[in-house]
Amino acid sequence: MLINGRTGVYFPAYSGSIMQLDFVSYQLSFKHPFGVSSNTRRETTSVFIRISAGNQCGYGEACLPAYLGETEEETIVFLKKMSRLLQQYDAVMPLRFFLDEAERMDKHCNAAKAAVDIALHDLYGKLAKVSYRAMMGIEEPQEVRTSFTIGIDSEDKLRQKIEEARDFHILKIKAGTADDKALISLIRKFTDKPLFVDVNQGWTDRKKVLHMLEWMEDQNVLLVEQPMPKELDADMRWVTERSPVPTIADESVKRLKDLELMNHAFHGINIKLMKCTGLREAMKMISFCRKHQIQVMLGCMAESSCATTAMANLVSMADFVDLDAPLLYVNDPFRGLTYRDGCLVLPDAIGTGADPLAGLFDT
Ligand code: MG
Repeated sequence: MLINGRTGVYFPAYSGSIMQLDFVSYQLSFKHPFGVSSNTRRETTSVFIRISAGNQCGYGEACLPAYLGETEEETIVFLKKMSRLLQQYDAVMPLRFFLDEAERMDKHCNAAKAAVDIALHDLYGKLAKVSYRAMMGIEEPQEVRTSFTIGIDSEDKLRQKIEEARDFHILKIKAGTADDKALISLIRKFTDKPLFVDVNQGWTDRKKVLHMLEWMEDQNVLLVEQPMPKELDADMRWVTERSPVPTIADESVKRLKDLELMNHAFHGINIKLMKCTGLREAMKMISFCRKHQIQVMLGCMAESSCATTAMANLVSMADFVDLDAPLLYVNDPFRGLTYRDGCLVLPDAIGTGADPLAGLFDT
């Protein structure tokens, strides 16, 4: 096998048959209705894909929560176009070729592009019989803790959710409510664990934001995600210069080009596969962050084990990890990463490490 060390583009030795893409739409159901400041939801749509070549299959996922702004219909149109392209080739083509074609195919559809990227990395790893980490030269992670997300809820429900999260060392709170001090104080009645606080663009006055960040430092808050609307870059830069708590961009930074323009508005960024179009661009963003002393958080939308396991391959390169989405569902159709004592456990498998339960693609 050949690995181009400069770009990380990998050429499998042989597959010998054309590539085929199949997909299936699926409703992931939450254990608890999932509340953030703007809405509460019970289900999320994911479109799962399978790309086959030779006797191997790679799997990917486009997770489509409504706030992402990408519909199931446009995702399927994109996947059908990609399917027609793949059928013209076998897997001897470099992976980069297909990902560049996917990028050219549509300006949007980031989640669909991520599904294709994840499935192809999985497939190429399987064809070479190595894990994605080995294929890309990524260090094996040791004891990496993930945060566990607690959705906004009544006092009784919050107590119950915090109790259920007893294995986890860090809790993530979705703030941006009418009274976030009251919310954090309520959480502090039940636990003194360190917190990640995600404001989802909920605060606007920069002086009040700075006051909140100073107050949160005393509340053992490790980071605050996207405190202000993404349009308020200059105010966010003013806050970040003064904040005692790391500020992390989420909505403000989707792709590498946003990161290149960030210009110190945040201390770090939350990289998500569904925003950045997949593992290839996530790796480029991590590399940019390392070069420019920007902190790296790895997050997810509301993916199943399929996309979350793919992302978990990168955790040895992260400062903060928020990869708990599979724990939120009752009907995850994939098996991959697991959790032990609040830490991620990656499967010892070829490819990305996630495989579907039998029958998922039979419908
Ligand atoms: Mg966020």
